[in-house]
Amino acid sequence: SEIIAKYEVMERVGSGAYADVYRGRRLSDGLIVALKEIHDYQSAFREIDALQLLQGFPNVIVMHEYFWRDDEDAVLVLEFLRTDLATVIADAAKANQPLPAGQLKRWMIQILSGVDACHSNMVLHRDLKPSNLLISENGLLKIADFGQARILTEPGIDNDDTSPNTPDGNATCTTSDINKEDDEENELGCFTSCVGTRWFRAPELLYGSRDYGLEVDLWSLGCIFAELLTLQPLFPGTADIDQLSRIISVLGNLDESVWVGCSKLPDYGIISFSKVENPAGIEARLPNRSPDEVALVKRLVCYDPAKRATAMELLHDKYFNEEPLPVPISELPVPL
Ligand code: ADP
Repeated sequence: SEIIAKYEVMERVGSGAYADVYRGRRLSDGLIVALKEIHDYQSAFREIDALQLLQGFPNVIVMHEYFWRDDEDAVLVLEFLRTDLATVIADAAKANQPLPAGQLKRWMIQILSGVDACHSNMVLHRDLKPSNLLISENGLLKIADFGQARILTEPGIDNDDTSPNTPDGNATCTTSDINKEDDEENELGCFTSCVGTRWFRAPELLYGSRDYGLEVDLWSLGCIFAELLTLQPLFPGTADIDQLSRIISVLGNLDESVWVGCSKLPDYGIISFSKVENPAGIEARLPNRSPDEVALVKRLVCYDPAKRATAMELLHDKYFNEEPLPVPISELPVPL
């Protein structure tokens, strides 16, 4: 086929729910690439669609080209990225060495820039986690794995309006999205119970929300930042109920006093938890971290989606302009 004529396929470097990833070499110039073969139409279509919108942003993975092979299979030609943030965290945890604040800030800024690129183009990633934040040998961090991404269209706004959308934390899925979502939930539920994605799921999703928005990514971001700070997952739930129970033991019960409207969530009345008298608070989960760091995580890990800070707002947080300043990208240690 066309792809075989242009690329030499080398060893397999990874596999996911619907995809196999191979290292490859472009025959014309020897460029090393990643060839991601996706076996699911929906997921291939989503990933191609989202990546096409997001080319040119430094913190989003580069897609050189793609091929549809038949009705189901697509092969994406991506830049080859050697490692990921999960490996950075695991290495630091193994060495029992917290990440120095200047490095932490540079990783966070890159993640925020990538998420801001997605959200200002109305791309909801829906699966942000350290293993989907890939890293080049120069320390450039790139958001990857858009197989669950969704492009949001605001109700009333023409879909093929080509003018760039402005960032809007309040955008939600349109009705057609919600209908599509119905087909998908079983599949997605199965997927999340097979992998660790649950740890990064926002409470509105755990309560069955179908009209959620960009804010679900912001919750995931808060979980990722907490993990960078402590080298431990913030809410490592073993099942969906356990996931909610861990969140509640830290944040307290979810009720109308913290999020007006939460009692209308589809599963709110179905899943109820006994009263947590003394919630631990995020600070208890971030021992030995500075008040600024705790405050940053709190701006993301909060029940009411409307109260979560956007990626752009966080990029302007004074935390990033205070000593120790973020190190240059070239000074970030990249795992081999
Ligand atoms: P899935 O959507 O099935 O989870 P991923 O995009 O997460 O697939 O890819 C699965 C694995 O393949 C990743 O965990 C990673 O190890 C590897 N991989 C993915 N993309 C690249 C890339 N661009 N460069 C190098 N390795 C990659």
